[in-house]
Amino acid sequence: MNASTFSLCVYCGARPGGNAAFLEAARTLGDAISEKGWRLVYGAGDVGIMGAVAEAASAGSAPTLGVIPTHLMQAEAPRGAFKDRIITETMHERKKVMVMNADAVAVLPGGAGSLDEFFEVLTWAQLGLHSKPIYLVDIEGYWQPLVALIDHVIENGFADESLRDLFQVVPTVEALVSDLSRS
Ligand code: AMP
Repeated sequence: MNASTFSLCVYCGARPGGNAAFLEAARTLGDAISEKGWRLVYGAGDVGIMGAVAEAASAGSAPTLGVIPTHLMQAEAPRGAFKDRIITETMHERKKVMVMNADAVAVLPGGAGSLDEFFEVLTWAQLGLHSKPIYLVDIEGYWQPLVALIDHVIENGFADESLRDLFQVVPTVEALVSDLSRS
């Protein structure tokens, strides 16, 4: 990989979710990563939305870096399909290695794991530990309740208004890719 290759860390569900638009968005993002010549950094799983992003990116020959803890290899990477992998001992290490290797972070629809990853990278930004762009990819408004929760936290005085400036909400994968292409 060229040292200047732009690396996008994608957090997303290890399940397909209940709306076909989520898997479609995952494939669109994987395709876009390879078309743009970017590298995908992800959780190394070959299941759910996570697997769909990686499969599309790999099919287009994009470099991918998967980061997975040993204890999840059976559950999340049963096919072991993707080769560039870092195996960590813990979940904490996984998150750190993913962010360290990325230039920006995008969050597609997902569950508690994706929320955990989003909040960790957001709170690290809040503490000034990094300044990498963070995007919520709001496919069919999936993340609106999360945005409302964050607004509620700010309105109730538990965070500065500036928290809202630490991430961007984009409605589609196309909007994400176009924003990243400008930066
Ligand atoms: P989910 O959004 O729940 O489908 O999970 C998405 C990904 O987040 C999966 O690869 C999970 O293994 C991962 N995950 C869940 N909890 C954590 C955690 N505490 N630290 C790092 N990754 C996690």
